[in-house]
Amino acid sequence: MRMKVWGARGSVPAPGPETMRYGGNTSCVELTLSDGSLLILDAGTGIRNLGLALPQVERPIHILLTHLHLDHIQGLMFFAPAFRPGAEIVIWGPPSPEASLCDRVARYISAPLAPVEVRELPSIVSFREADAVEWEIGPARIQAQAVNHRGQTLGYRIEDGEASVCYIPDHEPGLGTPLSELDDDWISGFELARDASLLIHDCQYTDVEYQSHVGWGHSPMSDALIFARRTGAEQLLLFHHDPLHSDDFLDGFRQEFLARWQELGGAGEQVDMASERREIALAPGATQPA
Ligand SMILES: [Zn+2]
Ligand SMILES: [Zn+2]
Repeated sequence: MRMKVWGARGSVPAPGPETMRYGGNTSCVELTLSDGSLLILDAGTGIRNLGLALPQVERPIHILLTHLHLDHIQGLMFFAPAFRPGAEIVIWGPPSPEASLCDRVARYISAPLAPVEVRELPSIVSFREADAVEWEIGPARIQAQAVNHRGQTLGYRIEDGEASVCYIPDHEPGLGTPLSELDDDWISGFELARDASLLIHDCQYTDVEYQSHVGWGHSPMSDALIFARRTGAEQLLLFHHDPLHSDDFLDGFRQEFLARWQELGGAGEQVDMASERREIALAPGATQPA
């Protein structure tokens, strides 16, 4: 399995000279499974560049949406394969008692917010509500689990052979209670993430910033750190960077995180900040940094 980041920003795109290195596009991660199948985690603005880079593919493209906040779906309207006749796209996302996944996504892909309707797309688009806890796509076993955020939100775990990726981009695992004071059972997303080869996790705030953002649905550095150490992540990518955090700020953030990670017994090469176009090859049974 291979992983490539196409957007690591949270909340709103943040393009500009001060965010060139980590990137300004919102959440989108590409996974290439061991049989070549393509699986896309979230459809933030990063999916636009991914779509442009994709060759004509024969098999269906699966898009797994964690939730429907705009920073996770905004790129759907600009995903080139959606405009190719005959391309098959399967969109998975959280169920809701309020309306079907298709109807909820169509609130964005319809007038007056968009010039086309879902039914007018020339590709074959289908919607699947991820209410089953576990299912298979090609050689991969997919698990979805509700996690703490604002509104109906899923985390995903994808296992392909011995390799596993856990993706929880928007997550407040302790909801204001420091994780050090909680048992494993009380920590949102804990089982989903356990012993992942690669954990891609929310780390939007510094600990100081978090004090004024409790309940906003995102993690401070301390929680991302403790969550990853306690769940036993082999490798960790910090994700969903705050739009106010420049490259220089994130460099400093990374240094502090690394120091604290090593204090907790982790190895420096296990952890990094997610940045656009970063790739990691997950060999069966082992992980290796790109
Ligand atoms: Zn988000
Ligand atoms: Zn969100």
